[in-house]
Amino acid sequence: IKLANSGVQQLKPYEPGKPIAELERELGVTDIVKLASNENPLGPSHKALHALRHLDDLHLYPDGAGFSLKAALSETLGVASNQLTLGNGSNDILELIARAYLQPGDEAIFSEYAFAIYPLVTLGCSAKPVQVCSNLYGHDLAAMADAVTERTRVMFVANPNNPTGTWFNAHALDEFLSRIPERVIVVLDEAYFEYVEESHYPNGIDRLQKYPNLVVTRTFSKIHGLAGLRVGYGVSNPQIADVLNRIRQPFNVNTPAMVAAQAALSDEDHLENSRSENTSGLVQIAEGLLTLNLEQIPSVANFIAFDCGREAMPIYQGLLKQGVIVRPLSGYGMPNHLRVTVGTSRENERFLDALKHVLKEMA
Ligand code: PMP
Repeated sequence: IKLANSGVQQLKPYEPGKPIAELERELGVTDIVKLASNENPLGPSHKALHALRHLDDLHLYPDGAGFSLKAALSETLGVASNQLTLGNGSNDILELIARAYLQPGDEAIFSEYAFAIYPLVTLGCSAKPVQVCSNLYGHDLAAMADAVTERTRVMFVANPNNPTGTWFNAHALDEFLSRIPERVIVVLDEAYFEYVEESHYPNGIDRLQKYPNLVVTRTFSKIHGLAGLRVGYGVSNPQIADVLNRIRQPFNVNTPAMVAAQAALSDEDHLENSRSENTSGLVQIAEGLLTLNLEQIPSVANFIAFDCGREAMPIYQGLLKQGVIVRPLSGYGMPNHLRVTVGTSRENERFLDALKHVLKEMA
C-alpha cells in the first residue's frame, strides 16, 4: 500500500527498553537496576503521589485547555499562560512543531549525536533532516548557523544534550540565536534544565522576548520523576503557542498527568533533593569510570556517556546479565559508548561493580 508520506520509509523505529518484569523473566534475576532512560531514581514528589491518590472525576474528560497547570507554570516560570503549550511529554511538543512548520522539501537542522526524536519528527513530515557535525560530542553552534539555507524552517538544539550530556553557555547561545533568521523556528530543548548547576548555563525562557522564533521545551519526565504520566510543555511567543495549541489533540494531556505535574511544581524540596543527589551521583560515577580507565564525556545532566574503548554491545550484554540495564548508543553513531543514568548511590555502586566485573571477565 502506497504511503502518502515518503519520509516514513526512511524512519527507523525508536527502540524503547524492554519492561523490567520481562527482562527479569528472561535473565532469571530479580533485582534489576534500570539506568537506561534518564529517569529520576527518587521517583516523583510525595505531593504528586498524594494528589494522584486523591483524584476524582476520572469519568470526565480532562481540562482540555490545561487551565490550572498552565496557571501554575505561568507563575513558576514568569511567563503568560498564552505562551504555553502542554504536551503528552515534551516529545509531543517537538512533534507539534514539526507538524506546524515543516512540509515536504523543508529542512530541519540538528546536531550529530542529538536526541533521536528530532530526525523522527522531521521525517514524519517528509522534511529533510540536516545533521551537522558535532565538536567533541557537543553542538557546534557556529556550524549549525552556517548550515541554514533558504529551505531551513526548524532547528533543534538541546542544552544539555542527550545522549552526550554536553552543554553550551549563555554567550554561545546568544551568539547563535542572533545569527538565525526570524523565519526559522529555533527549538531549545531543555529537558534536563533543572539538573544543571553551572553558573554560565543559560535559561532559554529569558530569551523569548528578544527572539520571537524561539520555542523552549521542558518536561516533567526527568527531575520531576513523572515520565510514566507523559507531560511536558513548550514556552514561546503567544503566536507560536496559538498555532501549536490549534493543532494538538484537544485532550493530549490526561487528568492524572496534569494534577501530578501541578503538585510536583509546588515541591521545591523534592526538586532540590533530586538535583543534589544527581550532582553527587555524577561525581560518584565519573570517579568510578576514571578508576576503570574508561574515557567519559563530561556531563551536566542526569546521565553519563562513556567510551568502552571497544565495541560496547558485549559490555552492555554483560551488564544485563548482572542485572544492570544501561543504554547502548550504536543507534546514535557511537558504537563504542554506553550511556548510564545516574541512580541512587547504591544503584550507581551496583553499576560500577557490575562494570568492573564485566571488564575483568573480558580482559
Ligand atoms: N528531549 C530530550 C533531549 C530528551 O532526552 C527527552 C527524553 N529522553 C525528551 C526531550 C522527551 O522527554 P518527554 O517526552 O518524556 O518529555
